[in-house]
Amino acid sequence: MAQKQQARRSRTVRSPENGEQAMIEGILEGSPDAVGVVVIRLDCGCRKMAAVSLSGDPASKIIMYRDNAQSICDQCKDDHGDAQRVVKQFISWKATEPDQATMTMISRKVFGH
Ligand SMILES: [Zn+2]
Repeated sequence: MAQKQQARRSRTVRSPENGEQAMIEGILEGSPDAVGVVVIRLDCGCRKMAAVSLSGDPASKIIMYRDNAQSICDQCKDDHGDAQRVVKQFISWKATEPDQATMTMISRKVFGH
């Protein structure tokens, strides 16, 4: 039996993340080379995002933002969203996703695993 290890991390979760979704769309629009947006949620409620290209390289600047706020929180200003405080990280793919192998390659490159 072939053992297939499928990471089902991109399960759609319904949540009131409208601000996040709007940001993702905005980043994709501004980054023609992007195939997706890396989304990093921090324990304070701020988010870190950056577009990623087909080769797994950054396709935009890293953007930090906080829902319904003018700016990110003081802690993020201090530590710029330290990796210790990440609660969830994933890639939000464009509607036309790359193939599975490419998505895996990009995820590995971005997250290092
Ligand atoms: Zn924060």
